[in-house]
Amino acid sequence: MSRVSAPRGTFDILPEQAAARARVERIASELLEPAGYGRIETPTFESTDVFTRGVGEATDIVQKEMYSFDDGGGRSLTLRPEGTAPVCRAYVEHGMHKQPLPVRLYYLSSFFRAERPQAGRYRQFWQLGIEALGSDAPEVDAETIVLLATILERSGVSGVRLRLSSLGSPDTRAAYREELAAYLREHADRLAPAVRDRVELNPLRAFDSTDPGTQAVMAGAPMLLERLNAEDAAHFAAVRNLLDRAGVACEVDPTLVRGLDYYTRTVFEFTSDALGAQSGVGGGGRYDGLVEALGGPPTPGIGWAAGIERILMAAGETSAEQRRLDLYVGFEGNGADAFALLAAARAAGLSAQMELMARSPKGQQKQAERLGARFFARVEGDMVHLRDMNTGAEQTIEHEALIEGVRAAL
Ligand code: AMP
Repeated sequence: MSRVSAPRGTFDILPEQAAARARVERIASELLEPAGYGRIETPTFESTDVFTRGVGEATDIVQKEMYSFDDGGGRSLTLRPEGTAPVCRAYVEHGMHKQPLPVRLYYLSSFFRAERPQAGRYRQFWQLGIEALGSDAPEVDAETIVLLATILERSGVSGVRLRLSSLGSPDTRAAYREELAAYLREHADRLAPAVRDRVELNPLRAFDSTDPGTQAVMAGAPMLLERLNAEDAAHFAAVRNLLDRAGVACEVDPTLVRGLDYYTRTVFEFTSDALGAQSGVGGGGRYDGLVEALGGPPTPGIGWAAGIERILMAAGETSAEQRRLDLYVGFEGNGADAFALLAAARAAGLSAQMELMARSPKGQQKQAERLGARFFARVEGDMVHLRDMNTGAEQTIEHEALIEGVRAAL
């Protein structure tokens, strides 16, 4: 039979890799829970509307990257490509606006995008994300950014840079879009064809182009940051000041454009020098119109998402700690007594395994050693030979004395 492989752009998480992931998850939950963030998990798929209305029709994600399918009854469903729109959908659906605001949530889930796979870019990947809903205070923007900076630091991500900008309010942005589109039309002959085709649909994406001709045009383009109204400019200045007070360094980058339509005001992105072309470890921003776009009350919000695979890559995570094993139970012939001792050991809270491959007594001891077991118990009739694998000391005891004997020594 021919072999079946995992789909392109997907990967298996093997036991030796799971420990490093669990560590990042622990770092995150130990920081986020005391800060008031509660875990939320939404379904793996949603009504496609959640993303067309939430993320925006014109975005790359909605135009090219969604795995959408018919539910069998003529309704379109989509494997979630991102977490913010689903969390806002849940916020509205569960009437969370009636809770004391802001409502703080976090998630650690897998997401799906039909992207061209490469190192650090997959079709199913994992994101840790947070959302704070209900407040537009600049302190909330700063809080979320500081939390991500702390998680990256505690996870051991090296060479971290934070870029920050503001997209202003929807009116400012709409006027700026027109101004930028007009500027791009003026210089259409020097733009890459892909950029030229999207001038009307999404002119801001021209800032992301790697084409030299386009980049030269963009160097002279008007900047949204220079068009902010007084309130938005004050909000942005406040966020920068708060980050400064928290000791988090950032660079203001007026060309920072995030690929989702819902952002307003603050946007930011963390990158790591330890990564190659896909250098983004996490990013996010404010989305003051999103909850309303999903049918909820006007609700400001801000959040970010960070890629778990990118965090692990940038932290150079490779080694897996060996799992603790207190007891390995060996036997010859009928395994029922060994099995009963194994069950008793586990019920008593010990980490225990038993022989399952009918190895010789010598092979069994070797296996106990390979697994790093602290004790090796060999069942023989009514008695158990208990070996302390650290010292080599052996004693022969009754079955009933085994658990206490191991527990006392640990
Ligand atoms: P985004 O939702 O596009 O703002 O992405 C937030 C973070 O998720 C990025 O900084 C990456 O760390 C990670 N990420 C996004 N897309 C992918 C992908 N296709 N594969 C792996 N990680 C990704």
